[in-house]
Amino acid sequence: MKLFLSVDMEGISGIVDTSYINPDSGTNYARGRQFMTEDANAVIEAALEWGATEILVADSHNTMNNILWESLHPKAKLLAGSPRNFSMMQGLDDSFDAAFFIGYHTRQGIPGVLSHTMSGVVRNMYINGRVVGEFGFNAVYAGLYGVPVCLVSGDNLIARESSELIPGISTAIVKTAVSRTSAICLSREQATAELKQKTKLALSRVQEVKPLVFAEPLELAIEFSHAGQAEMAADVPGTRYDTETGIVSCSPKDQHELYKTMRAMINLAAGAQFF
Ligand SMILES: [Zn+2]
Repeated sequence: MKLFLSVDMEGISGIVDTSYINPDSGTNYARGRQFMTEDANAVIEAALEWGATEILVADSHNTMNNILWESLHPKAKLLAGSPRNFSMMQGLDDSFDAAFFIGYHTRQGIPGVLSHTMSGVVRNMYINGRVVGEFGFNAVYAGLYGVPVCLVSGDNLIARESSELIPGISTAIVKTAVSRTSAICLSREQATAELKQKTKLALSRVQEVKPLVFAEPLELAIEFSHAGQAEMAADVPGTRYDTETGIVSCSPKDQHELYKTMRAMINLAAGAQFF
């Protein structure tokens, strides 16, 4: 039983605002990365108890150097650092039995804790017409390898977002959103217990949860915050810019092109000046 853990930060236990997740200026960042390591360890410990034999942890936030390597469970391997062509999903392939998304957050526009989609430039992202955030996008990537996403952890609203896309997914809810930067958090002890219990539940259901598969050909469409960003994104070869809707779209041929094109569009768009 081979398990892939993509670990983001916004949905980690005890984290409510940017002071915990910004490596440069976050006054609580040192605590945030410790909480992140503790959440990962709770999942790893329970997965090993259940019978997982191999666990790869992909640090998936910001520069992807957040998890405390020296404190991570000794049986897990850590993929750290950036850039990576496949970002939060680097390292996944069809040899894995299941993927877990830990510390994940809601898509842009939803009032979940620290909601966003990849970067501030994205207003909405769609695959085959279905709106997706980071959870959905990464689940489609995993689905193209035939790997089901069986567990998500984060706030109550990412639990809802993920369940709408993947029936039967197990959800470890470690906090309840009060606003985009406020939440009622379980205690460390209760959050650890929730993560462990839901990890075991998810592993017992791996056969029942289907990989998220959309019909091919795939269509990736991104609605940007302003037209200048869309114009920059449309410089990526193979994209189409609909000036009526402001949406830039493309038809990636596989999961690698899907991830690389999305990253190229967003990175270019981020360079557009507003005022
Ligand atoms: Zn993040």
